[in-house]
Amino acid sequence: MINVTKTYLPPLEEYQQYVEKIFKSNQLTNNGPMVKELEQKLKDFLGVKHCLFVSNGTIAIQIALKVLGITKEVITTPFSYCATTHSLIWENCKPVFADILTTDFCIDPEKVKEQITENTEAILATHVYGNPCDVDKLAQIAADNNLKLIYDAAHCFGVNVNGTSIFNYGDISTCSFHSTKVFHSTEGGAIFTDNDDYAYLIDRYRSFGHIGDNYLTIGINGKNSEFHAAMGLCVLPRVGEIIEARRQIFALYDSLLNWSKLVKPVVSLPTETNYAYYPIFFDSETTLLKVKSNLEAKGIFPRRYFYPSLSSLKFVIEESNCPISDDYAKRALALPLYYDLSHEDVRVIANIVNDCL
Ligand SMILES: *Cc1c(COP(=O)(O)O)cnc(C)c1O
Repeated sequence: MINVTKTYLPPLEEYQQYVEKIFKSNQLTNNGPMVKELEQKLKDFLGVKHCLFVSNGTIAIQIALKVLGITKEVITTPFSYCATTHSLIWENCKPVFADILTTDFCIDPEKVKEQITENTEAILATHVYGNPCDVDKLAQIAADNNLKLIYDAAHCFGVNVNGTSIFNYGDISTCSFHSTKVFHSTEGGAIFTDNDDYAYLIDRYRSFGHIGDNYLTIGINGKNSEFHAAMGLCVLPRVGEIIEARRQIFALYDSLLNWSKLVKPVVSLPTETNYAYYPIFFDSETTLLKVKSNLEAKGIFPRRYFYPSLSSLKFVIEESNCPISDDYAKRALALPLYYDLSHEDVRVIANIVNDCL
């Protein structure tokens, strides 16, 4: 069976060594030594000022909204994983969708401008598939309109834009370290910022609002454990190899698929990517369904990523006007892509896809 993704597992003995240390110290959580070590190593590896390890990529977005004091309208993308929108609603903010570009499938800065009202407080944009949003234009729009800018960079571990980590963009950037992502800590996530005050608040918010024995504010439990940090510490040294293996598979798909009948994202900014996903877009949903069922018949399970368009979720918002996202979400399929997917399997998958076009 071939799934769309497969979790990278480090050598068991290595993880066991960390577990032994945890058992010796008897400190399992509460900002322990491994959490601190992971945060320091991530800061060095990524070249970011602050990195706060949290329990997942969803709470990371929620804490970002809290820290920035966002309570009203937030302009956001309809083409992302549901966690982007759900976090907004969970925090009692109102998601206002701006449609996406047909090049990189990220939020369209011109559409963002059209949605700004006196109630707009922030922009929450996703670098979808790890492809960077137009970070310069969005920064300009945020500055011109006094809006906070948050990036859901859940797909972006290891991505650099204009020669720096993509996590350095926006007031706050968040990432997911879920097992399905390029870098993982089983469950987990991180919040990045270069603002010292925000970092201080994130640290308080993720830990019930504690300052010593007292409380600064109403916090949440968003911290993460030593066991999760240990997994992150085992995976981090291999990220280079993992990304290189993915690059080769990516290049092979690129060379094998019939591009006269398919569309793929086009990145505009100078980007060092992490090959997080391999999405392709078909001419119609009918073709997509045919490809999907032919692959499934051979035990190959691609994923409709991202489907449906978040703007079409009725419990999310009464109405929105995002025809591009609605349309492309119906035609998007992520093909299997993981570090040890064999090149022979990639050929089989590409052939099945091409035969359906
Ligand atoms: C995976 C993902 C999340 C959520 O991350 P979790 O760690 O699973 O909570 C948020 N946004 C996007 C775009 C994602 O792909």
